Amino acid sequence: MLETREGGCHCGEVRFRATVDLDLLSHCSCSICTKKGMLHLPIFPSEFSLLRGKTALTIYTFETGVAQHVFCRHCGINAFYVPRSQPDKITVNARCLDGIGGPNLQPRRFFDGKHWEVAQQQRIAAGGHVAPTNMNGAETLRKILAACPE
Ligand SMILES: [Zn+2]
Repeated sequence: MLETREGGCHCGEVRFRATVDLDLLSHCSCSICTKKGMLHLPIFPSEFSLLRGKTALTIYTFETGVAQHVFCRHCGINAFYVPRSQPDKITVNARCLDGIGGPNLQPRRFFDGKHWEVAQQQRIAAGGHVAPTNMNGAETLRKILAACPE
């Protein structure tokens, strides 16, 4: 069910509003998602607003550099990021939504990011969204930051 919720990092410097469907919650076996324990809700940027925190965010990238792993430089929390699999989207970290009971979140979908190329082919074959070719997530992130009032 689609619902509009707010969320943010731990210290409160980063706040966002997003329209999400918790029934589409997914998890991922890639090296960084495993360590973070992130629960994913990928949405189009039109369904996401960064309310505050553009100067609090720091970007971490690795390998291809397509994904933009943004986190709050004060508290270290990744409230959202731009995923490599769909770099024209924003993935909300469901654990950072207000009023969410972490242990009750049950991901129904799985992306085998440990075997990324195969997982991406399977995701697209199953009707998943395809971003423009050779797109870098930095482009998506730039627009989100530019639209942030503070
Ligand atoms: Zn913070």
